[in-house]
Amino acid sequence: MKFYQFILFRGNHELFWRADSEDGTGGFELDISLCFATSLDPLNRQIAISCRQTSSAALRKRIETFVDIYKGSDPRINKIKSFVEKIPDGEHFFYMPYKSRLTNQEKVLLTVELMAADAGQNVDKALNAFDKNMGYFFEHYELDGKIPEKKTWIGERSKKKRICRFCKNTRVHPQSDPTQEAKTTFKQEAHAISEALGNKTLILHEECDACNKYFSETCERHIYTYLRCLGTFFKVKNKDNKVSSIKGENFQITYLSKDRKEKILAAVNAPSTEAPRIIGLDPHELSRQILALDFAISYTLPDGEEAPQDRPPTNIPLKFKEKLSPQEVYKALVKFALSVIETEKLAGFKKTLEWVSGSRKVTTLPKIAILRSYASFSKAAELIIYRRISNDKTLPLAIGELQFTFQKMIFIIPSFDEAEANFITDEEFKHYWDFCLFNSVQGWSFQDFSDPEEKEFIFNMNLPENKSPHQEEADTSQIIKS
Ligand SMILES: [Zn+2]
Repeated sequence: MKFYQFILFRGNHELFWRADSEDGTGGFELDISLCFATSLDPLNRQIAISCRQTSSAALRKRIETFVDIYKGSDPRINKIKSFVEKIPDGEHFFYMPYKSRLTNQEKVLLTVELMAADAGQNVDKALNAFDKNMGYFFEHYELDGKIPEKKTWIGERSKKKRICRFCKNTRVHPQSDPTQEAKTTFKQEAHAISEALGNKTLILHEECDACNKYFSETCERHIYTYLRCLGTFFKVKNKDNKVSSIKGENFQITYLSKDRKEKILAAVNAPSTEAPRIIGLDPHELSRQILALDFAISYTLPDGEEAPQDRPPTNIPLKFKEKLSPQEVYKALVKFALSVIETEKLAGFKKTLEWVSGSRKVTTLPKIAILRSYASFSKAAELIIYRRISNDKTLPLAIGELQFTFQKMIFIIPSFDEAEANFITDEEFKHYWDFCLFNSVQGWSFQDFSDPEEKEFIFNMNLPENKSPHQEEADTSQIIKS
């Protein structure tokens, strides 16, 4: 049996293809190579192929013809067509002949190349700068995590053998029968990362029902509040598959779903309504404007303050009803991180698991680096864990990278081990950050999430003047009042 294989790669999307044939796969190899050829030399019978491809109508046409030829023998080949069809014109992807798998390191490098190419930057320059740092970084770290597209389970499969990685089966469910001996149960499906942050696929076997309930009422509730505005503004679907509206202390954000808009339009167009006249628009124009809206925001100004005549205020401090504990937000990030690591790789995090589970108190934590950028925008939460494989105790045992909408948070997963650095002093933190993969990008802010106390939480929405209030133009910041 002869075969030919290749990989198509673009960021989070990867397609592996292998063609087998008794009579050889030379024809198949030639045909697919012709699709991706950058130049042909018929005289010397040579084809030049670039691994980095640019999406175009001509390329899609060639792939379509190719797929038409081969779909009779294997209909799954349509996957190649749909992979290429999804890529907008002018953007890039990779065709990697003979490859069957890519290492995490290769994927990171290819992703950087794609980001630089898509942004029109000098690819070689970007790669050189990154490579210098990356080679060194990956001598010390291995990649884990990343949210899969298909449903994936982590940890022990058998319910009988399961040990909750957080409480070691010691937490008692508040609804358990006090007359019976307390027993750990694993009836519920525990999401490694909150469903409210858009994760539907990653399930952790080793989280008991009592811990599941405990986390949902403590740290996960806090991170949900902290990230809630971003989730709503970017229309992330929650547990009930809906975009959530928010009612705060001094504001209300209402998501205008299709149903809701239809109701508003029916009311506006009702024969008795005065709405268009009051607003001063003709009914057609008013209907058009309503259809174009995603949200309605109402905001109550503080006493004594007056709003501008013809536009919303430039700064809108959205005050939440829920109080927020910064340390619980940090804990949630670490809880998510420790949920996506395989059981056998959890050594070194014993004290961390105790802290997350609530049985260990901590007063000071390293700062969290936060960046807002659309470059790696992701609607559902994405989490990557960098686990240290070297013995260098001046570097963190693990680092987490959470991407949610346009916010990236890089956090140290603390080990609370005295033999390791704790990254609380500026010097230790600087040593870590100088080493990090992310420091070549500008614009990070470093925030302290140590405080365990519950504080008032304000999400600052800044609407630039002379611009319509629009999510992508609005500059925002989360402030936890002390
Ligand atoms: Zn438990």
